[in-house]
Amino acid sequence: MNGTAHVAIGAAAGFVVANQFASSPTTTLLFVGLGGVSGLMPDLDIDGKLRSKITFSHKVIQSAAQLIGALMIMYSLYEGTATERLFGMGIGIAMMALSALLKQKHMLIITGIGILAGSITLQEKWLMLLGVYILIASFVSHRSYTHSIIGTIFFGIIAFHLQESLGIEGVFYACLAGYISHLVADSKFLPVNKRGIKLFLPFSSKEF
Ligand SMILES: [Zn+2]
Repeated sequence: MNGTAHVAIGAAAGFVVANQFASSPTTTLLFVGLGGVSGLMPDLDIDGKLRSKITFSHKVIQSAAQLIGALMIMYSLYEGTATERLFGMGIGIAMMALSALLKQKHMLIITGIGILAGSITLQEKWLMLLGVYILIASFVSHRSYTHSIIGTIFFGIIAFHLQESLGIEGVFYACLAGYISHLVADSKFLPVNKRGIKLFLPFSSKEF
């Protein structure tokens, strides 16, 4: 499953959550964006060894994510309350930055440290945990911990604190739905996947 598909499925998951919460158009867009970004998160573990094999899909991920990011920034300027506008823009920028950073392991380590530093200044717990997540993702092998239940729980904690910080109900579910959609799309339950994901790491390496 390539990045574009993951963004699309994650965004769709965010849209479903928005409908469940009967969100306003702006919040719906926020959830679609969060779902799309969350749908990309597990693949932050792509390291240098894999880079040559996934050049094409990286280009597609980058173009798609950057387009969505740019649209979110533009839309946020016109719609919503000041807070929603700010976060819409933040997510748009994060999406564009994330997509540009997916390429390189060292860039990820630097980003993780940068986010950690920023989070201490901003006093945002979710941002600090996100920095930790990115740092870990840049060291573990592809399709391992970020594609497991432990990784999902860790991401869920990030999403929980993001919701607390934004004060918008449904943010937690939108992020989690996007993240889980990635694992489902990478699992062996889909006939297109020859390899599955090691859901129960570190307890078992069995692929699902
Ligand atoms: Zn993946």
